[in-house]
Amino acid sequence: MNVLIIGKGKSGLSAGRLLEKNGYSVFYYDDREDCEIPEDVSFVIKSPGIPQSHPVVSCFREKNVEILGEVEIASRYMKGKIVGITGTNGKSTTTALVYHVLKKLWKGKVFIGGNFGIPVSEFAPETDKTSISVIELSSYQIEDLKDFKCDVSTILNITPDHLNRYKTFEEYAQAKLKLLKLTKQNVILNADDRLLKDFLKEKNVFTFSMEKSADAFFDGEKIVVRDFSLPVSSLPVRGYHNIQNFMATLLILQSLDINLNEAVNALQDFKGLEHRLEFVKTVNGITFINDSKSTNVDSLEKALLSFDKVILIAGGKDKGIDFSPIKNLVKERVKKAFFLGETGRKLEKLFSNVTETEFKATLEEAVFSAYNAAKSGDIILFSPGCSSFDMFKNFEERGKIFKQIVEELK
Ligand code: ADP
Repeated sequence: MNVLIIGKGKSGLSAGRLLEKNGYSVFYYDDREDCEIPEDVSFVIKSPGIPQSHPVVSCFREKNVEILGEVEIASRYMKGKIVGITGTNGKSTTTALVYHVLKKLWKGKVFIGGNFGIPVSEFAPETDKTSISVIELSSYQIEDLKDFKCDVSTILNITPDHLNRYKTFEEYAQAKLKLLKLTKQNVILNADDRLLKDFLKEKNVFTFSMEKSADAFFDGEKIVVRDFSLPVSSLPVRGYHNIQNFMATLLILQSLDINLNEAVNALQDFKGLEHRLEFVKTVNGITFINDSKSTNVDSLEKALLSFDKVILIAGGKDKGIDFSPIKNLVKERVKKAFFLGETGRKLEKLFSNVTETEFKATLEEAVFSAYNAAKSGDIILFSPGCSSFDMFKNFEERGKIFKQIVEELK
């Protein structure tokens, strides 16, 4: 049977290897190469980076050939339990938190992957009935799921992002909400999220909240889950949003019958992920924070909520997101802001009546200017609120370059 894989990236190649081992003839299509496309194809695997509107995808859809994702195919070779994690922000952090605990406390093999960087096809054949796989799912990956089911899942939040690829915010939200239907056992939802509100009363839904009573909630000092409580001062990760990620983690673990006291002990040595509100260095009392993974307005908002006296460096590729909802917050917390990239001029103008703003052509200039503008006690926060592709290869490269510039400061 012939299979066509569209997109020769990491997950496409990995799915190809898995299918070849299972007797399929695998063909690849990639816009950057000349490719042979066979006439008869049993199904197509579309990489998450390829939009539904891609001409080759459309062509096969018109011929009624099934278009599936890499996660869908891989899951057909999987055994054991699956935890699915999605949301606009916090996916990777929550995936890493859950994995960190399971790695220590789960009785079978434990795997991590999906949008987290390791294609599910890489480990699918190694799973067995006692294993558990923690899978981070982007909205693009969820779109291409069909028979995939997870045992426990969470939707952490749904806020504007990727509006360059989805026609409307509703369409983007629908992609995330599809995970509700793909979950067999428990779904963990953020009770404070506007879009998730309609689903909180459904069977098998467990909720977390920063504002009100819920299955897990923050009372101003502690996280409370029934008779279990934990002061937030003892969390291994900082920032307002990480309280939410932590609550979601605890509810996922509880659904898997993990004892919460043991879970919290297991997390004591958890180190936050690189490029997410990552502490870089303090120079002359000025602290540098690398939040290069901040690629939308919500993650920028959460970064600003985590600090005051901020000198902000932001901007990047334009995804059509409206930044005006955070104007008041910028007014409250940001002493001065430097903006870069495709959105740079737009943001410089938008925020000019709430704080001092300046456009900078390079990240280096922005860091130098921010350093010159800062006083001891200030935080220089690099939280772009935009993706990186206008100036860098990806958010990792952007964060690494930021840290390098900071390390070389005199
Ligand atoms: P994702 O994998 O969904 O992109 P990450 O954990 O990598 O999420 O975090 C991405 C960005 O969003 C970082 O800037 C981080 O500080 C911020 N963030 C993390 N968790 C949340 C959350 N629950 N709500 C809002 N922003 C968050």
